[in-house]
Amino acid sequence: MNNSNSPIQRHRTVQVRVGGLGVGGDAPVRVQSMTNTDTADIQSTVEQCAELARAGSEMVRITVNNESAADAVPRVRERLDAMGIDVPLIGDFHFNGHRLLSDYPACAETLAKYRINPGNVGRGEKRDSQFATMIEIACRYDRPVRIGVNWGSLDPDLVVRMMDANAKSAEPKEADEVMREAMVESAVSSALRAEELGLPRDHIVLSCKMSGVQDLIAVYRALAARSDHALHLGLTEAGMGSKGIVASTAAVAVLLQEGIGDTIRISLTPAPGESRAREVIVAQEILQTMGLRSFAPMVTACPGCGRTTSTVFQELAESIQDYLRDQMPVWRETYPGVETMQVAVMGCVVNGPGESKQANIGISLPGTGEHPSAPVYVDGRKVTTLKGEGIAERFKQMVDEYVVERYGRG
Ligand code: SF4
Repeated sequence: MNNSNSPIQRHRTVQVRVGGLGVGGDAPVRVQSMTNTDTADIQSTVEQCAELARAGSEMVRITVNNESAADAVPRVRERLDAMGIDVPLIGDFHFNGHRLLSDYPACAETLAKYRINPGNVGRGEKRDSQFATMIEIACRYDRPVRIGVNWGSLDPDLVVRMMDANAKSAEPKEADEVMREAMVESAVSSALRAEELGLPRDHIVLSCKMSGVQDLIAVYRALAARSDHALHLGLTEAGMGSKGIVASTAAVAVLLQEGIGDTIRISLTPAPGESRAREVIVAQEILQTMGLRSFAPMVTACPGCGRTTSTVFQELAESIQDYLRDQMPVWRETYPGVETMQVAVMGCVVNGPGESKQANIGISLPGTGEHPSAPVYVDGRKVTTLKGEGIAERFKQMVDEYVVERYGRG
């Protein structure tokens, strides 16, 4: 749901339906993700789609890069349906998308949306006819299309044309600026071409992904100024770990704050063995901490300092956050509104009681040299003081009871 207290005015866009889901217009900013499995490996793809969907991804994009992948798509869908997972699947096409969509009609019909990269659909006359083939198939199956321009695969013919025109102009611009303009031009002119071919305006999403934060912000501002198409937002090739998260957040948050962006994807490179669902959680946390949407109860925790010498405080903060997220698949259905709950886990008496009172439920653990007791606050009132062994377990139990009492009423 949108947070009605949010001061953010969304850029007006035309709403697109993807499966049963609205994207753009007055729909909330959607979270999407992409698999990194070989789509032809049906079992691995199903497992990862399920993992991403369970983490809260509202759409999942899968690569459709060859005949085996195109052939596998309907079976991936069937198995997900059999598991009760109805997340819309988006097909990611490059180079041979026109052929795969033509030769594998079941794939074309199964997918809820097609992603087409106008820089990778062919060159010259072939480019136009292959792009047209994909758009005609989208029209035939009544499927929306994302025209996804990418910095790394920008249409070279367009770049040459725009660079030449710039060189001949009275006041030539910097090459970087011309490249950014070419990104926007590629998206807008491809959307126009798709509309001329019969794809309705409310079947088109645009994106212009770049890997530089300032480039991305500049390009999306320009895109939003020129278009009312729904916009998919994300920093491409964001990278690994904290760098990937920080760079993505820096770019996406600025644009979201300006009301730009109808759906986001955080393109993190997972560390070996790391869950792909991390990108979904980061996307949700960006939207939730900005007050745009709520997905799971949030834990307010202080950073800890020299007043907390034991690890009890960090362990409790982490285990409560994990616990709350783990409960969400069930809680979401049973306890509507629980996703807005705030839980505070604080390390000592300096800020502990104050933050705990602001939360729905909060605990202030004893700092070094403090009396070994932990006051618990519920809805701003101190209700008990936990002491001795098992403080963490007893606090978790209190959180459970609070959820049932507060959100179980209707
Ligand atoms: S609340 Fe206490 S333990 Fe936490 S950072 Fe502040 S002073 Fe340190």
